[in-house]
Amino acid sequence: MQQKHAAADYQAAAGNHAAGLNTTPRTLSRQERRTGFGEVEFTLTLAQAVQEANRCLYCYDAPCIQGCPARIQIPEFIARIRSRNLTGAAEVIYRDNPLGAICGRVCPVEALCQKGCTSCRISKPIAIGSLQRFVCDLALQEGRIAYQDEATTRGKVAVVGSGPAGLSCAHYLRQLGFNVDLFEREELAGGLLRWGIPIYRLPEEVAKREIDIITNRVALHRKYLLAAQAEDFIKQYDAIFLGVGLSSPVLLRTSGADLPGVYAASSFLRTLREGKSGDFAFRGKEIAVVGGGATALDAARSAIRLEAAKVTVLYRRTIEEMPAFSSEVEAAFQEGVDFLWLTSPVEITQVDGRLKLTLEGICLGEPDESGRASVIPTGVRTNFLADVVLVAIASQAEPASVEGWKDHPKVFRGGDLTGGATVVQAVADGKEAALRIISWLEKGGSR
Ligand SMILES: Cc1cc2nc3c(=O)[nH]c(=O)nc-3n(C[C@H](O)[C@H](O)[C@H](O)COP(=O)(O)OP(=O)(O)OC[C@H]3O[C@@H](n4cnc5c(N)ncnc54)[C@H](O)[C@@H]3O)c2cc1C
Ligand code: SF4
Repeated sequence: MQQKHAAADYQAAAGNHAAGLNTTPRTLSRQERRTGFGEVEFTLTLAQAVQEANRCLYCYDAPCIQGCPARIQIPEFIARIRSRNLTGAAEVIYRDNPLGAICGRVCPVEALCQKGCTSCRISKPIAIGSLQRFVCDLALQEGRIAYQDEATTRGKVAVVGSGPAGLSCAHYLRQLGFNVDLFEREELAGGLLRWGIPIYRLPEEVAKREIDIITNRVALHRKYLLAAQAEDFIKQYDAIFLGVGLSSPVLLRTSGADLPGVYAASSFLRTLREGKSGDFAFRGKEIAVVGGGATALDAARSAIRLEAAKVTVLYRRTIEEMPAFSSEVEAAFQEGVDFLWLTSPVEITQVDGRLKLTLEGICLGEPDESGRASVIPTGVRTNFLADVVLVAIASQAEPASVEGWKDHPKVFRGGDLTGGATVVQAVADGKEAALRIISWLEKGGSR
């Protein structure tokens, strides 16, 4: 990173942000959210950031660091904000997470770094995500992120998939002196940062800036790499990192799941990210969303922004078991999304141009192998009418991308493919894999 005097940082930030003394970032009103895809939360002002940094207790055991999968040295970057050394604060963040501005927006901080914050016992946790976002936005805006990469003398690694796991692995390998070939089947790099998370939480220009800083330093190839090519790759490269995510949506197995008007929520979100919201005439319509994870909640909140009359999330367990982040559930409530718990569709039919869902009641039993309460159908059935059904029950790995790589010692994996479910976990996996690859090669390539 380029060095710059703290006073200059301070002036730049002060020039860009009007002073304000409430440390809660400004957010769009419910009405604004119902009519457009503008970013919901605003970046803190400098005055807000410094005021928030001043609340940090600098605990000796820093539970916040333990809660961050990327292990960002949080008290260190907060101390630098406090002394108005904003470039120094950005340096601390980018050292451990090359997607700092992205994670500052999308990390479920309530379950990660902010969860164990000691300030919770006094008032509320330090707004770590918002502080991170403030610092990284400023560094990006001023073009101050420039990594010093070592000369490429240490070998050649193939990274398959350019989601946060692949990007992070490619970034650290390149920084530490490797030639990296990054393979991505889509036109643009970024994985779900590009095709999943909606722009009201992650604007395209923010995603693009941090992704480009990585892809500009490695060889990016647009190629759908089939596992059938594994043998060739194993011969050609010193190591291979697979960060192909879980790109296949699991479809409903009920009859009527293929009727017109029933869509995979992931395809809906992707079409929106492609800028084609006009493909969906949702205004005044009633939308049912089946599922309880991030995809279901983002599909529901996106449908609200397309001016649907009513959006209902149907979930087979209760709010307690929903895999979605609690901040997303809360935002969905605020935006007017309805929820129906303990219910599951067993049939979809067409009635007078609409879709009739037959729902079966559920009661919860003992925990199943996933550790969550098992689902027991009650046999009690009700009907639910909707104009569109968005299905977001799960996603899985694509066999063509993963089978065939099996357990060859040159092959490393990470991200959603190995059970991750957050961007920062994928970043942490990519970094860890890069370090494991290096240590494995240094030991002569035996694991
Ligand atoms: C709608 C939605 C919202 C989410 N919201 C959040 C959030 O707010 N916060 C959060 O932390 N997490 C969120 N997540 C989860 C987060 O996006 C994922 O955990 C993260 O993106 C996983 O990263 P990854 O690199 O493992 O996989 P992905 O991001 O899925 O990237 C995999 C990449 O591999 C490519 N690929 C696949 N197969 C091949 C192949 N054979 N050849 C070449 N390329 C291939 C794909 O095209 C893709 O670009 C959300 C997920 C979804 C679906
Ligand atoms: S990367 Fe995410 S979890 Fe880690 S400190 Fe930043 S906001 Fe918190």
